[in-house]
Amino acid sequence: MKKLKCKILGHTLTKTSKEHEMVKEYKCTRCGKEFTKNGYGKLVILDSYWKENNENLRAFYTV
Ligand SMILES: [Zn+2]
Repeated sequence: MKKLKCKILGHTLTKTSKEHEMVKEYKCTRCGKEFTKNGYGKLVILDSYWKENNENLRAFYTV
């Protein structure tokens, strides 16, 4: 039922990345799905591709 609610109402996102970080990551408190923002500021599902991408970004920005 929880997931159905997300489908109807949309996800309830909380930010999981730190405030100062360039990488923005979010998690839905209801279904536990993770999201991130792509280069265009659009919300996308945080899959293995984006996880790797964000790790690279973090490494880049912390240098
Ligand atoms: Zn959700």
